Amino acid sequence: MFILNKYIYDKIKPIYKTIREVPISSKKEKLANKFSSTNISDVQKEVEEWAKNQTMEITRLKDLERYRKEFVGNVSHELKTPIFNIQGYVLTLLEGGIDDPKINKLYLQRTEKSIDRMISIVEDLESITKLESGELKLNFVDFDLVRLTEEVFELAQMLASERNITLQFATKNDKPVMVHADKKRIMEVMNNLVGNGIKYGKKKGNVKVGFYDLHETILIEVSDNGIGMDKSELPRVFERFYRVDKSRSREQGGTGLGLSIVKHIIEAHDQTINVKSIADKGTTFTFTLEKAK
Ligand code: ADP
Repeated sequence: MFILNKYIYDKIKPIYKTIREVPISSKKEKLANKFSSTNISDVQKEVEEWAKNQTMEITRLKDLERYRKEFVGNVSHELKTPIFNIQGYVLTLLEGGIDDPKINKLYLQRTEKSIDRMISIVEDLESITKLESGELKLNFVDFDLVRLTEEVFELAQMLASERNITLQFATKNDKPVMVHADKKRIMEVMNNLVGNGIKYGKKKGNVKVGFYDLHETILIEVSDNGIGMDKSELPRVFERFYRVDKSRSREQGGTGLGLSIVKHIIEAHDQTINVKSIADKGTTFTFTLEKAK
């Protein structure tokens, strides 16, 4: 019996060694501890667990690889349009257009617009990369949401007036609505949501912001009575580069990254964001933030 046990143990030892030497993410230490046991009856279980972890790790790596390819593909696709536009305008100017007063200034203005577009794509990409790599640390402070929204309204006022859209509060805010969050990032969230309400709004429409007290958190609601979205689109709107109507989004200077940045920011705060929408009627985004103590 002893000889048999020793025989089996000698055969199994190299398997242990192999398993121990392959680190599986952060579980390495935990597994190494487990394998210090020499109880042969545990071997099958341990090896099975190891195999399962390996399969999961491979699936995760494959997903990451697919995501990376998709991401790079999307980025180059987005950048191509403004680059080709710039190339076209500059070539026409070089080939004599520069002396034609009918087009020289116009083409330079269009070139500038394409450059602005490239800058906003690159800025959004930078934000999303930082958010996804967890590099971006949140800077929590207590601040008043009413004041912040007034600032957002001020910034968005010009665009709103152009489209005849009114920006207003949905709730009476006699007192400050104090939350504990990263002010700069929440400003980005509100700019995006209010901006979308304007971009996808209807002429003479409105964008409303309301605050509701939910015990430990504040619920923030940004709603518009614009073009809305079909129910089938809703699960995808927070995806990177997803756009319901590509040409409308581009026309409005959209990159398709806004809502995925918004979702990342809210989730980094350990809070949630939701969307409800009815095509041709309007859209409502709601998210929560921790109340200031
Ligand atoms: P974009 O830069 O295209 O605006 P977003 O990530 O902000 O990208 O939004 C993704 C898509 O969701 C938009 O292209 C638009 O089709 C749709 N969308 C977002 N907000 C609204 C809204 N308030 N009303 C209608 N559609 C919206």
